[in-house]
Amino acid sequence: HADLAMYQAKERGRGNFQFFEAHLTERARERLFLEGELREALHRGELQVHYQPQFSLADGSLIGAEALLRWCHPDKGMIPPDKFIAIAEDSGLIVPIGEWVLRNACRQARIWAEAGKSFRRMAVNLSGAQIERSDVLAAVDRILAETGLAPQHLELEITETYIMRQAERNIRVMEALRDLGVTLAIDDFGTGQSSLSYLKRLPVDKLKIDRSFVMDIPQDANDSAITRSILALGHSLRLTVLAEGVETAEQLAFLKELACDEAQGYYFSRPLDAASFSELLYGGVR
Ligand code: C2E
Ligand code: MG
Ligand code: MG
Ligand code: MG
Repeated sequence: HADLAMYQAKERGRGNFQFFEAHLTERARERLFLEGELREALHRGELQVHYQPQFSLADGSLIGAEALLRWCHPDKGMIPPDKFIAIAEDSGLIVPIGEWVLRNACRQARIWAEAGKSFRRMAVNLSGAQIERSDVLAAVDRILAETGLAPQHLELEITETYIMRQAERNIRVMEALRDLGVTLAIDDFGTGQSSLSYLKRLPVDKLKIDRSFVMDIPQDANDSAITRSILALGHSLRLTVLAEGVETAEQLAFLKELACDEAQGYYFSRPLDAASFSELLYGGVR
């Protein structure tokens, strides 16, 4: 009986494997195609940086932007970051692409920061793979020098999940980045199980409350409680707290009541190309 059971398990395993292989092959082919296209995208000029405005909730002023990568493929149209960032990370392409985003965002930030308006910070997403596969510190230092952007105008966002995966090592990298004078934000906060003891030691300036919690406030009691806790936690650690993905006036009112510091989201504005962002900033719409 034992032999029979083993035989059956083997057969099942084989079947699964074949299914798995066929499935993977199709996915792998798609990924390989996109990887090849992405390799060309940079010098073909298919990549763009869009900017989503960030607002102070104390006075409603436009205080900064988050740089968000866009890929406009000639045949496939707009390919969202969720479809290609992981491919860029696995292939290592995130290193040149990430530096390209950083350079563009810093060059743009210098212009907006010098315009004498309320704009004071450009936030750029940093992928864990950039930290692992390249000398991020040297790249940030070099790009700040190249673009002439004062470091206090640059904020780097790192996701909570990534930080916690190798917290000890990441704390050292983050401390070195911060020594350059840039500020650091934890992105997608609330999704990655930070332990409180680590959070206390992390050299960060800001928590960004993940959109998944903001989405259902104030109706959902659990999400409202989580949002309230993140704000209390952040403020007790003297961190700035920004809410991501604010889409409604109700969400905004709830966040204001809890003294949330900053927000971004479709309620205020979608990510904009540089020209439209300039119009918003200089036009003084808000
Ligand atoms: P993220 O850093 O958490 O960025 C916020 C995402 O939420 C953006 O999606 C933004 O367009 C979207 N968003 C903002 N407000 C709202 C809202 O009110 N409602 C909804 N439904 N969505 C909102 P996007 O641009 O598609 O980027 C997705 C993710 O891709 C980013 O999440 C980030 O993790 C990654 N990403 C984007 N650009 C870069 C980049 O230059 N480098 C790296 N490493 N990752 C990037
Ligand atoms: Mg982000
Ligand atoms: Mg986020
Ligand atoms: Mg995200």
